[in-house]
Amino acid sequence: MTGRPGTGVGTGGARVVVVGAGVTGLLTAVECVLAGHRVTVLDRGAIPDPAATSHDQHRTLRTLAVGDVEATRRMGAAHRRWLELEPVLGAGCYRQVGVVTAWPRERLAEVTRFAAAAGVPVETVGPGTLPQLGFPAGTAGVRESRAGVLLAGRVLRAAARWLAARPAAALRPYSPVAAVDADAGKVTLAGGEVVGGDVVLVAAGPWTRELVDLPAVLHRQTMVYLRPGRGQARRWRHAPAVGGLGADGRAWVVPPVAGTLLKVSSDAVCREAADTDAGAEDQAPWAERLADAGILRDPAGYQVVAVRACHYTTDTAAGGARLARMSPAVWARTACGGSGFASAPLVAATLAAAAKEAAI
Ligand SMILES: Cc1cc2nc3c(=O)[nH]c(=O)nc-3n(C[C@H](O)[C@H](O)[C@H](O)COP(=O)(O)OP(=O)(O)OC[C@H]3O[C@@H](n4cnc5c(N)ncnc54)[C@H](O)[C@@H]3O)c2cc1C
Repeated sequence: MTGRPGTGVGTGGARVVVVGAGVTGLLTAVECVLAGHRVTVLDRGAIPDPAATSHDQHRTLRTLAVGDVEATRRMGAAHRRWLELEPVLGAGCYRQVGVVTAWPRERLAEVTRFAAAAGVPVETVGPGTLPQLGFPAGTAGVRESRAGVLLAGRVLRAAARWLAARPAAALRPYSPVAAVDADAGKVTLAGGEVVGGDVVLVAAGPWTRELVDLPAVLHRQTMVYLRPGRGQARRWRHAPAVGGLGADGRAWVVPPVAGTLLKVSSDAVCREAADTDAGAEDQAPWAERLADAGILRDPAGYQVVAVRACHYTTDTAAGGARLARMSPAVWARTACGGSGFASAPLVAATLAAAAKEAAI
């Protein structure tokens, strides 16, 4: 143990400070409390905060990263941890409906061989099994069964509720952090209060780059939320999430599960942004691009309920998510990447291990 005031001395655990109550921060807090540590969660908004990137109806979890054995192994571990967390949080937040990805037919053998070697069960499905969707010409789908949809808003609410009921957790909404001192293992709130811990995680989503000096690229993406009409609804009843769609193969859909809407977007409407304020930007042209992308076979069979822009960051060098250790005590989710929701249990496990180390 460090012996600093306010540490876990005398409790057998470490004192953990988490900046940001999105999925990364909340799951880290849950894992640390489960492991016997004391946790303070600071967020500039409510907990959960509707402005968080994580605050959406759903996110997709897939395990197969073709060609990347290590990423596939990691996401397999994340999948298993989500299954274990469900009863802990008591929220029914992971629907294992599977994920289908469209691949050119000439690559199917390579993809299924990789999946078999990596221990990921897959099956090939023809576009005819999902006739409501526009697969690119010359492709078929590869369906992963150990994958599906995480009910994002439900996860956040359940984790916040679980933490609020634990004496070892202190939730502090409306506590914006203005500065992080990596050397001292402390953060300073906008009001001047200093909060220190044996372990500090900065997980402020796309706003992390405002607090730590590690570069990340900010992206903005438009998503369209649809309600299938009566003619389409039955096709979606047990549908998986699907990627690689549309004429250019860059679009994806998240199915309407557990009362959520159908969500449609595409890498083609993901662009770099200067800041997270999309308020002045007209989303209509981006929504039109999605409508014209050939994602749905019968676009008229759906009602547009909402169009929304959302932000995430990628690592400047490696291009994906990144968890950086800035000092022995301070960690930062400097980039949350395109799979940052599904991989949050992995960050949580790393921080719980760091807290254990700090408590020895
Ligand atoms: C369009 C889109 C689609 C996506 N699809 C997927 C997907 O299918 N699967 C997947 O796994 N991931 C997906 N992601 C990525 C995923 O949503 C994010 O990586 C993840 O939600 C990030 O969570 P977080 O907790 O790190 O950050 P956030 O959820 O953004 O939480 C950060 C929190 O920090 C708070 N905060 C900010 N600044 C401060 C401050 N100074 N002081 C205190 N608190 C602060 C905020 O209020 C917020 O509550 C997608 C992202 C986008 C944009």
